[in-house]
Amino acid sequence: MFGDCHIHMVLDGVYYKDAIAAHRAGTRDDIIRPRLADYAARGITFLRDGGDAFGAGERARALAPEYGITYRTPTFNMCLNGRYGAFIGRTFDTVGDYRALVAEVKKRKGDFIKLMVSGIMDFDRYGVVTSEPLTYAQMRELFDIAHGEGFAVMAHANGADTVKRALEAGVDSVEHGAYMDDEAVGMLADSGAVWVPTLVTVANLVGCGRYPDDVLTRILDLQMRNVARCAALGGRIALGSDAGAYRVFHGQGTVDEYALMKRALGEKADIILAEGEKVIREKF
Ligand SMILES: [Zn+2]
Repeated sequence: MFGDCHIHMVLDGVYYKDAIAAHRAGTRDDIIRPRLADYAARGITFLRDGGDAFGAGERARALAPEYGITYRTPTFNMCLNGRYGAFIGRTFDTVGDYRALVAEVKKRKGDFIKLMVSGIMDFDRYGVVTSEPLTYAQMRELFDIAHGEGFAVMAHANGADTVKRALEAGVDSVEHGAYMDDEAVGMLADSGAVWVPTLVTVANLVGCGRYPDDVLTRILDLQMRNVARCAALGGRIALGSDAGAYRVFHGQGTVDEYALMKRALGEKADIILAEGEKVIREKF
């Protein structure tokens, strides 16, 4: 079985506020250990956490070797103050603040830098991404600082223009990448960056009644077509479920994402996903 290149140990797939509250007074081994055991039992031996400001991913990394799991974490994820991501990560107002956060990641032996550079899909309105994205100049400066400190950059990025700007700014992995157009997919394939499309975060919402299914299936269809197109162009793609996101459960989410990847990529799926994971393991 493949590893999962995008999970959030702090979240539970049910309700983020309760999940985060559980770890607020100190991380909970009674929550983290069963999840690690379940991943190991499924043969999932590599996990890359997308970060949290509550220490859950960091604690999981400390425990993971007991379960035979290689665990990578940015410690906490980050976003510009006022933009999407503050519910789970740390915020910065200035480049100086950001440098201090990067220094803290280094001190806590974080494995890479995780940045949110856009919002998420508005699942009620096709084509709409919430929150204002970072500009090219902002991304360039933030990514350069991370690279200068020896860190790879994992970026949460949705929207064709945002993905293009992130790639031009030197991002190392694009997370989600919803609404890419042909140009963005082509740039991604040429860039050497790894794409983690997190198909299951959308697929598992279909039929839940919270959002219109026609919007969800349109988003998912485009994303699956883009996965196939990116692979055909020689792009790097890795399996990541965003486990902990709404209706994406730890362990099962990885299995679900793999099934969706096989649907999108056909018989070449295993070769493509193995290559993507290899790059993630080396760079992050
Ligand atoms: Zn995530």
